[in-house]
Amino acid sequence: MRVLITGAAGFIGSHLCERFLKEGFEVIGMDNFITGSPDNIAHLFGHPKFKFLHYNVINYIYVEGSIDIVLHFACPASPVDYMSNPIHTMKVDSLGTLNTLGLAKLKKARYIFASTSEVYGDPFVHPQPETYWGYVNPVGPRSVYDEAKRFSEAMCMAYYREHGIDVRILRIFNTYGPRMRTKDGRVIPNFITQALSGEPITVYGKGEQTRSFCYIDDLVEGILRASLKDGLSGEVINLGNPEEVKIINLAMLIVELTKSSSEIIFTPQPPDDPKRRCPDITKAKELLSWEPKFSLREGLENTISWFKKKLRKNL
Ligand code: NAD
Ligand code: UDP
Repeated sequence: MRVLITGAAGFIGSHLCERFLKEGFEVIGMDNFITGSPDNIAHLFGHPKFKFLHYNVINYIYVEGSIDIVLHFACPASPVDYMSNPIHTMKVDSLGTLNTLGLAKLKKARYIFASTSEVYGDPFVHPQPETYWGYVNPVGPRSVYDEAKRFSEAMCMAYYREHGIDVRILRIFNTYGPRMRTKDGRVIPNFITQALSGEPITVYGKGEQTRSFCYIDDLVEGILRASLKDGLSGEVINLGNPEEVKIINLAMLIVELTKSSSEIIFTPQPPDDPKRRCPDITKAKELLSWEPKFSLREGLENTISWFKKKLRKNL
């Protein structure tokens, strides 16, 4: 079995490459390094079943040989990244989705799309089930990401309905873990880096907004199950950890776990920042027999150890 993973040098993509190789698959990784790094996959170069293509998915994609599963994970995912690359982000999740779907059609491959909880926007329904249509500002600063993901979902369903492609849409909620960049801009790498460097911890707004954080190993297990199980054609599945936490409490937990002397400061909240976010994972439990195993505390401890090593190396 041969899989193509776009966004292979990114945070989630690199863990996916590793896991699929571990399961015995041949893996073709594709990335243009806009937010990813060769460091994330350096240890895979030389693996007899790993091949890497340095390529921008917004261009027509040609890959030799058979492909059984296409996983489209390329896309800047941190709000800081997608807001500073708005047009590129829209292209990756429109042209890039079109190109990878076209490739899946040509190769008669299964297609897994990395969608997001952002399709629910600033939700009125809580927790969010897959049946909720969301509340998204189509012209706000986050729309480049949210609407491109929504467009991609529509495109996946069009390929499913018109060409019978075996697509699966995974709505991924906030995920964290080793290999996130120190300057990624997302809340967990920000807080850990700040806490370990003794810098002030920047809580946006009053920190009353919530998120639900899934540890990377749990997410990868969910993606693997959703990719390998038969009979899920056209399904939309939430993947995330339903343990909901206020951002202020996350900041305090990270201060405690790092034994940091950093102070917590409050800075303005960005526009359209969703107030609450928590997945309803009933469907994932039923279809995939999947639920997260790592508590926030355990996942953070692993992530903090990794960041400690990384920061030491950078000194
Ligand atoms: P990331 O930024 O670490 O990884 C994205 C990767 O895609 C990077 O390696 C980047 O260089 C690559 N890429 C971007 N544009 C490309 C292009 N045009 N051609 C080829 N490669 C390109 O982000 P991540 O957190 O690993 O997210 C991966 C996917 O999962 C994204 O599609 C994201 O929207 C989705 N997702 C992530 C989360 C999360 O919490 N991490 C939540 C929801 C959805
Ligand atoms: N956040 C924060 N301080 C930071 C970074 C983020 O308080 O240094 C907040 C942000 O306002 C949001 C939450 O943490 O409410 C999660 O932000 P992130 O950028 O990780 O992802 P999002 O879920 O917004 O896409």
